[in-house]
Amino acid sequence: MNRGVEMSDIKKAVVLLSGGLDSATCLAIARHQGYECYAITFDYGQRHESELAAARRVVDALGAMELKTIHINLGDIGGSALTDRSIEVPLGPTEGIPVTYVPARNTIFLSLALGWAEVLDADAIFIGVNAVDYSGYPDCRAEFISAFEGLANLATRRGVEGRPMAIEAPLLHLSKAEIIQKGLQLGLDYGLTVSCYQADSRGRACGQCDSCRLRREGFQQAGVADPTPYR
Ligand code: ZN
Repeated sequence: MNRGVEMSDIKKAVVLLSGGLDSATCLAIARHQGYECYAITFDYGQRHESELAAARRVVDALGAMELKTIHINLGDIGGSALTDRSIEVPLGPTEGIPVTYVPARNTIFLSLALGWAEVLDADAIFIGVNAVDYSGYPDCRAEFISAFEGLANLATRRGVEGRPMAIEAPLLHLSKAEIIQKGLQLGLDYGLTVSCYQADSRGRACGQCDSCRLRREGFQQAGVADPTPYR
């Protein structure tokens, strides 16, 4: 199909956005790289619905063509402290893969993002996974990302027609402090984001869960003030 020069010059990306620190940085990076961005967020039965409001604020601040919310109740599967209220969110470090791991979450999310990316004819999907701070999560590792990219290009019309789609994970090997420094360089206001696993309805963080701890340490190590509202 002849699309003309102007159309084909625009790079499009679907960006997974949770409203947290990492995915907001990921959107800032994709925008900085010149992508026309389509943000996708998931209302999946997580404890903290305030992160959906955070995703809206981040999109308004950074700019995206659209913010799509997908409703999918992973509580029907359960098996995680984030989707099953009978499992407590641990306060403090734990051994092995933590109970905040949501079974196959990134595979499910990337699959839905892939469907939308195919509809949009997007060139890339950006996901803010990080293997440094979340090495306990199997679906946050480089092997997973490259395997999913292989799958994406076997599973889509675009892929089999020889126009591969990239799965971009620009935060994969960065520390939390490096992620924060990157986002600040790109003008991101982290006060808009919510990372806590059990933030209250106003987005205020507990200050005690794993996600709060990593975030607070990240700001300390980056040598910048932590803008997080704690309750
Ligand atoms: Zn917390």
